[in-house]
Amino acid sequence: MAQTVGFRGSLGQRIVIGFLSLVFAVLFYWLLNFITQDIGRRPGPDYVKVQDQYVDPSLLGQQRQIMENIESVKDQLAAQTRQRDLLRDSTQSLQTTINQLLSIQEQSIKSGTALTEETRKHIDSSLPQFLDNQKRYEKFNQEIADLTTQGNNLEKQLKELNRKIEEQRQKGQAEYNDLYRQYRLKTAAYQLLVVIPIFLIGSWLFISYRTGFYGPLVWASFWAVFVKLALIVHAYFPREYFKYIALAVILAIVVWLLVYLLKGLAKPRLAVLMRQRRQSYGRSECPVCGTYLLSAQARRTESLSGRNTPAGGADVPTESAYHCPGCGTALYGKCGSCGQIRHLMLPFCRHCGAQKPDWNIV
Ligand SMILES: [Zn+2]
Ligand SMILES: [Zn+2]
Repeated sequence: MAQTVGFRGSLGQRIVIGFLSLVFAVLFYWLLNFITQDIGRRPGPDYVKVQDQYVDPSLLGQQRQIMENIESVKDQLAAQTRQRDLLRDSTQSLQTTINQLLSIQEQSIKSGTALTEETRKHIDSSLPQFLDNQKRYEKFNQEIADLTTQGNNLEKQLKELNRKIEEQRQKGQAEYNDLYRQYRLKTAAYQLLVVIPIFLIGSWLFISYRTGFYGPLVWASFWAVFVKLALIVHAYFPREYFKYIALAVILAIVVWLLVYLLKGLAKPRLAVLMRQRRQSYGRSECPVCGTYLLSAQARRTESLSGRNTPAGGADVPTESAYHCPGCGTALYGKCGSCGQIRHLMLPFCRHCGAQKPDWNIV
């Protein structure tokens, strides 16, 4: 992986880049949201249609008929009761009249005077009417009793019918719940079918290019699609599973961070490494083991006299390849581009500026 120490920009530039990345993440999330919303808008099972399949229409017809009958019985009952009450009132006033006539008759018998023609007529007609009223009153009572029985029977039938209908309705409800569950799972599957590939691409980009030039965009799109994926999973899958999924994700993030930090300890960041190497070269020390390096002049003197002569403090000017005498690391060697001697542990040749083709941070 080619890595360069990029220009990180001023604080203002970095704030603007951060803000725009955030805007990008929000817009990208919206886009995903619109797509999944449109998928979620596909028609679900029709409650009424499902119930029609389960509830027998003839039972519903019977139910309607019985309810109408109950209404009519109630109306008849009310009418009969009203008429009976009227009859009772008129019978009571008739009884009062008869009592008065009888007391007049009694007095006339006691005093031996004859009753007037009119009074006798009254007495003769009142008594049969009274008896007739009593008969009609009885008849009303009988009819009211019959209607009440009829009403009670109808209520019983309705209750039984309602029970049957309710039973069928519950079967329909269970079927509907089943269909609805399937519908939701299918919707979730379609949404995941769109979001998971985007998530996989985002993850791959994230792993490969998060530190590259397009890093902010990669971060933004990765988190947007990650949040959308988490929300879909949360909305469609039972809560008891979600807690495991959420925990697994959090665990993965924590492990990833830990690994990242541990790697950072084992392999310091490029910029830090570069600084250390530059300083080591500058102090004439091996960047790997810290062995003091000999200048070209000192090396020549050493080879001539066999003595170890310390060199001056500057970078070791050299005309030939040079390996660290302490650890054997190649420190200076021929540039593949211009052929002059260059620093092998720094990325660029100081003579021609070419980057080492196999350049890596190790
Ligand atoms: Zn060394
Ligand atoms: Zn060169």
